[in-house]
Amino acid sequence: MQSLQPSLPLSSTGTSEENCLVFLQENLLGQFTLNRPRLMSGRAGICYFCPRCGDIWGRIVFEHRAAQGLEFAWERVSCEKHPDALGTVAGSLLTGPLFFLLDYFPRAVLQREFIIHMNRS
Ligand SMILES: [Zn+2]
Repeated sequence: MQSLQPSLPLSSTGTSEENCLVFLQENLLGQFTLNRPRLMSGRAGICYFCPRCGDIWGRIVFEHRAAQGLEFAWERVSCEKHPDALGTVAGSLLTGPLFFLLDYFPRAVLQREFIIHMNRS
């Protein structure tokens, strides 16, 4: 029977930390450590879905939880090819409730986000 509260590995400091992988399409763009174990509890991660072309263009995978076979949550964000599909920043992984990830994203992901947001304005 699968536990409703996924167990996370404990770090030496006693806080729960989880390795997170950032994918664009099938390409690993970077990884980071998240120390918010209650975040999206019971989810394997987030997939980013473009409502115009149906593409799942990005994913953030909570590695430990994904290995447990949990389901992904999804965010409806247009891909870079369809910037006018929604009011979101097309191709950005930093959608409203997930904006706090800015504090965690690794350099490669931040550089990509910077370019996307600069090109928008
Ligand atoms: Zn699209």
